[in-house]
This record gives sequence, C-alpha cells and structure tokens, in this order.
Amino acid sequence: MLLIKWFDNESNKELKEGIDWLRIIPFIFIHLMCFAVIWVGVSTTAVVICFLSYIIRMFAITAFYHRYFSHKTFKTSRLMQTIFAIIGASATQRGPLWWASHHRHHHINSDKDADLHSPKNGFWYSHLQWFLMHENFNTQSDRVKDLNQFPELKFIDRYDILFPFLLAVGLYVLGEALSAFAPSLNTNGWQLVIWGYFISTVLLSHVTYCINSLAHVFGTKSYNTNDESRNNFLLALLTLGEGWHNNHHCAPGSVKQGFKWWQIDISFYGIKALEKLGLVWDLKYPNQKLLKNKIIRKLS
Ligand SMILES: [Zn+2]
Ligand SMILES: [Zn+2]
Repeated sequence: MLLIKWFDNESNKELKEGIDWLRIIPFIFIHLMCFAVIWVGVSTTAVVICFLSYIIRMFAITAFYHRYFSHKTFKTSRLMQTIFAIIGASATQRGPLWWASHHRHHHINSDKDADLHSPKNGFWYSHLQWFLMHENFNTQSDRVKDLNQFPELKFIDRYDILFPFLLAVGLYVLGEALSAFAPSLNTNGWQLVIWGYFISTVLLSHVTYCINSLAHVFGTKSYNTNDESRNNFLLALLTLGEGWHNNHHCAPGSVKQGFKWWQIDISFYGIKALEKLGLVWDLKYPNQKLLKNKIIRKLS
C-alpha cells in the first residue's frame, strides 16, 4: 500500500509535517542513476538526445508550466495545453496544477514569511527541501480553480509520475531501434535512458531550482518589487529566459521576461514562433507606464 503513494497523488491526504522520506526515494534514485554512465558509456547521439530532452522539457516548464498555466500570459488551444502539460510532467517537477498553484503562492508571498521557498530560509531549503516536505506535497487546488475545470489536466496532475516513466521507455525503444538499424551511431537503449532521461533530468531540475535559490539572491535589481528577485544573465541562458526574475516579479503577467534587446529570452522567442504558426495567441506585454514607475533610478 505504501508504494501506491508514488503513483497516485490523491492516495495520501493526511496532513503531516517534516520531510517525506518515502516519497523522496525516487528523487534520490534519479540522481544515483546518473552514475550508470560508467557502464553505458557515451556517444554523440546520447549527448544530442540529452541536450534536446533538456531544451524541449525546459521550454515546456518555462513557456507552459510557468508563463501559461501559472500566469496566463497567452492563450492556446485545449490540445496544445494538454500536449505541453504532458511534456512538462515528463520533466519530473510534478503536475501542472501542483506547479502552478505553488508558484502563484510564491508571487503573492515572495520573500515574506509565508513564501514556501524563499532563500531567507537557507539555500538548500529554497533549492529543494521545500518540495520534499509533507506539507507542500498536495496541490493547492483553491489557487488553480481555472485549471481544475479540465479533467485531463487533473489526471496528469494526479498521476504525474507516469510521464517521466513513459519518456524513459520511449528513449529505451529509440536507443534499441538505433542500435539495430543504425549501428554506426554507437548507441543503445540503456545509454539513451541514462543520458536522455536521468542526466538530462538532473540538470534540468537543478537549473530550475536555481530560480528559487539563486535568482532571489545573485544578480541585479532593476525594479522595485518588494522582494529580493534579481536579474541574472547566466540563469537566463540556462533556463531559456527565466533568469530575468526581477523583471518577471515586476510584471508577472508579461509573456516576455527579457525587457531589453540584449536580455536573451529563448522561451519568449519560442512562444513568438508558436504564435506565427497560429498555435498560441493573445500574448500579453508589460504595461510600460507601470515599468517606468517601478524602475530603480541609479544616483549618479
Ligand atoms: Zn521568484
Ligand atoms: Zn512567476
């Protein structure tokens, strides 16, 4: 019965406090599996698949989990939101409703006592401990009433562990097919699972966590936002635009997070491309007057 907790998020509604050790076994397992690279080795194909798996899933997290599900900064079809909810879930950062509900809570309480992952509580707490706690396991359903009306999103949120599993199986099948039909690529099923899922997921996860642990500490502040959010170029590159976190806290309803031409925001470019294809629409931009009022003027 204990194992069902890993597969069905509705199975445990009891309210406990402290670290949920049983549930974090899979989290530790994902990290340990990266060491299997010693046995599976490496190939150009494996590194390319690792990179693609990172980029595609990071885009699903930043453009859809964050800018769409959490902040509604553009509109899209029910099919597109389902596809990107599934890709996002395969990133192993829980389901779209859990992610959006906790993120909405963060924006209301940023760096205040109620903030669930403020670095004021320490680096490790804001980086990963906060989501390993019993009290933060359940989706805060009252914060995502707009998303609750879609049964398919509720299903993805309830059984989120299914999607990383399907990705790993898909990578195994791909690797075995390449090994049989294109042996010159020097890869196989287990090699693609280790690189395309485990290594890629660990990188993707920790870079995402850095937005909570580092982007409220290191970087520059351009706008008065009543919190410690910062703009950080390196994090913006690694997270496809999320490192412009002070900009984002200033205008959370904006689809674009890089406000200056040099503030590279790859997720925004991706969303613009989807707009050109007619797959997303009604992109929301920051209110220029509001930005002007919040700008921090440097004394010279
Ligand atoms: Zn923040
Ligand atoms: Zn946000």
